[in-house]
Amino acid sequence: MLNTIEQFVRPEIHSFNAYPVGETTNAIKLDNMENPDAWDQSVVDDWRQRLKLTPINRYPDAEAGPLHAKLREVMGIPDNTGMKLGNGSVELIQMVCMALAKPGATVLAPNPTFGMYKMLAFFANMDYRPVDLNDDFSLNMPAMMQAIEETQPAVVFLSYPYNPAGNLIEERDVCQIIDANPGLVVMGEAYFASAGDSFAKYLDQYNNLMIMRAVSKMGLAGLRLGYMMGNPAWINEFNKVRSPFNINSLTQVSAEFALENRAMFETQTDETCQARDSLYASMKKINATQCCPSQANFILVKPKIGQGNHLFDALKKVAILIRNLGTTVGLLANCLRVTVGTKQENAVFLQALQENS
Ligand SMILES: *Cc1c(COP(=O)(O)O)cnc(C)c1O
Repeated sequence: MLNTIEQFVRPEIHSFNAYPVGETTNAIKLDNMENPDAWDQSVVDDWRQRLKLTPINRYPDAEAGPLHAKLREVMGIPDNTGMKLGNGSVELIQMVCMALAKPGATVLAPNPTFGMYKMLAFFANMDYRPVDLNDDFSLNMPAMMQAIEETQPAVVFLSYPYNPAGNLIEERDVCQIIDANPGLVVMGEAYFASAGDSFAKYLDQYNNLMIMRAVSKMGLAGLRLGYMMGNPAWINEFNKVRSPFNINSLTQVSAEFALENRAMFETQTDETCQARDSLYASMKKINATQCCPSQANFILVKPKIGQGNHLFDALKKVAILIRNLGTTVGLLANCLRVTVGTKQENAVFLQALQENS
């Protein structure tokens, strides 16, 4: 049996390890950039009413028309800007790679970055060119420009705020990249809600800019919904590789409902941003750790050399789960990443961090 599998599965896939997903236990979960707050009970009741009315024997609206319209209205996306939805923004990244994967086509991204860019490029058989960031997580512009010149990438993936440090990369650097790149530049705005800024204002100016946003990190991770917006001509091509009915009925109805109740999310986002800033201030006082200022809902922690694994294990022992990035080499060696939780969770985390630093 195994021989048969090996005979048919692509060898580079066969030798690959699946995406590591943290175990869900009763731990305090600060590992996945989720919004820690549940919905108010009255909102949950209204939502359930809405779900009851959703026919589940029928296929969903293939174009998710009402949800598109609601998103355009709420996010202020003009009609002449193209827009498509994905089953999580990861599906949108996959669609872009699938459509652009001509033999020899290159995906270029700074390094380190969101891990799925590399994986989806790899699955699509595209060349992947990582360009190391500067030590302060800013873009190394001479290296970026040289790599663009050399590889003429079909797509450059950037993010804003930047994953994994939560910083905002320089606007003029991004514009220089969009100007220089013959292909597409995708700006991943997964943390748009807490960023307070967006590259959407450049869509009129650039034909090769695509903005991708997630709703996961603002509090709808369970729905699996993302949207991209940009030049309709590009979107039209990507739409051809989209799987039919990719946004299920329950997600369509729930996302529309959530957008109608967005005041609740806006309050939660404000609270998260305040909690992040206060967590950051407290963490900085613990002198065994260094952390990066963040515009997202997480903080990257750089413990003293060699202390990353120890700290991760010590927190895990007291049922606090954060993300250990320390298994990687380079800029993230020894690093940990903590998601901003509720006030109480953050206090428990800080206490444990203090005791183990
Ligand atoms: C978390 C994250 C995503 C994932 O978004 P989903 O919509 O949940 O698939 C995409 N891009 C970046 C940069 C992220 O940090």
